[in-house]
Amino acid sequence: MEEKDLGADLASVLVTAEQIQDKLAELAARIDEDYQGRDLLLVGVLRGAVMVMADLARTLHHPVEMDWMAVSSYGSGTKSSGVVRILKDLDTDVAGRNVLVVEDIIDTGLTLSWLLTNLSSRGPASVEVCALLRKPDMIRVDVPVRYVGFDIPNEFVIGYGLDYAQKYRNLPFVGTLAPHLYA
Ligand code: 5GP
Repeated sequence: MEEKDLGADLASVLVTAEQIQDKLAELAARIDEDYQGRDLLLVGVLRGAVMVMADLARTLHHPVEMDWMAVSSYGSGTKSSGVVRILKDLDTDVAGRNVLVVEDIIDTGLTLSWLLTNLSSRGPASVEVCALLRKPDMIRVDVPVRYVGFDIPNEFVIGYGLDYAQKYRNLPFVGTLAPHLYA
């Protein structure tokens, strides 16, 4: 999908495809350096983190393993419920492993906070977080995020893995939708 495919449905482009790829290359270089000589397991959070995971992993020089978790926190609306359920658990035993959670976006931080507690209880060697986007509301919960792509305003965004009612995940950029779509 491209910008023009959305026509009047697109309100603005917040982060361009090129900015995303440049930032992921920058984060990957830091991750390569930080995990030099150590094993690394990337844990992607479905479904939003699919794009970040695919592009970040391919930019890394490190021979990482990848696994996925699916959790629900939002339903199909645009407000965080704070209620987290595991829809799909990891297939990998993380005991003794270096885990890097790969996230699309941190809004309130409630989902991530819950996830970190859950993963930490499994006895990993380390757990860190890489998130492409972060909203200011995140201060509500104190979660340590080691690698952050972009701090964005407190708006509902779509694209690059992020959906509105399951659509627009296949945009290569991050943008906002025109208000008439929410009505
Ligand atoms: P949190 O628990 O941090 O409030 O919410 C985290 C999850 O909510 C994200 O992984 C994402 O799935 C969803 N989310 C939060 N903000 C947005 C947004 O602006 N757009 C979309 N599409 N999803 C969001």
